Amino acid sequence: MAHSSLHPTLTAEVSDAEAAQRLRAIGQRITRLRVAVFKTLLAAEQPLSHPELQQRLEASETGAVDRVSLYRNLEWLVQTGLAHRITADDRIWRFSAHRDETATQHPHFHCVACRQVFCLPESSVPTPPLPADYSMIEMELVVNGVCAQCGKEAPKKASQH
Ligand SMILES: [Zn+2]
Ligand SMILES: [Zn+2]
Repeated sequence: MAHSSLHPTLTAEVSDAEAAQRLRAIGQRITRLRVAVFKTLLAAEQPLSHPELQQRLEASETGAVDRVSLYRNLEWLVQTGLAHRITADDRIWRFSAHRDETATQHPHFHCVACRQVFCLPESSVPTPPLPADYSMIEMELVVNGVCAQCGKEAPKKASQH
């Protein structure tokens, strides 16, 4: 995988049993699609958009996936805190599953050349001070830039992007 250098240890084979176990652990109903969606996100080397996820599911044993069902399952994973949603400046939502229960908010990197989004390690980005009586729900930080792979290709391929 060309882009795996950022998280070399995070690309993992995830079994159905492991994915189902994580869902059961939070007391949620298990459906075949839920397990498949969660497993695919867990195994992905970077956050996936809705179409990318659909493609991977359909290429797997899961087979054809209804767009709306997929959307609902993704929403559900985000609501339960098992996955997070990232909005980059291209307005495409991408989804990534938390690999462990203690995962917290972290910044993301959006490559403007290949348009992929990567989860960055947690960092101590300070929360801006809020006016009195304002409360934060979440803070999204997306760094736009050029990833290592595209940086290497830039001199000869820049015109193709
Ligand atoms: Zn890139
Ligand atoms: Zn992330």
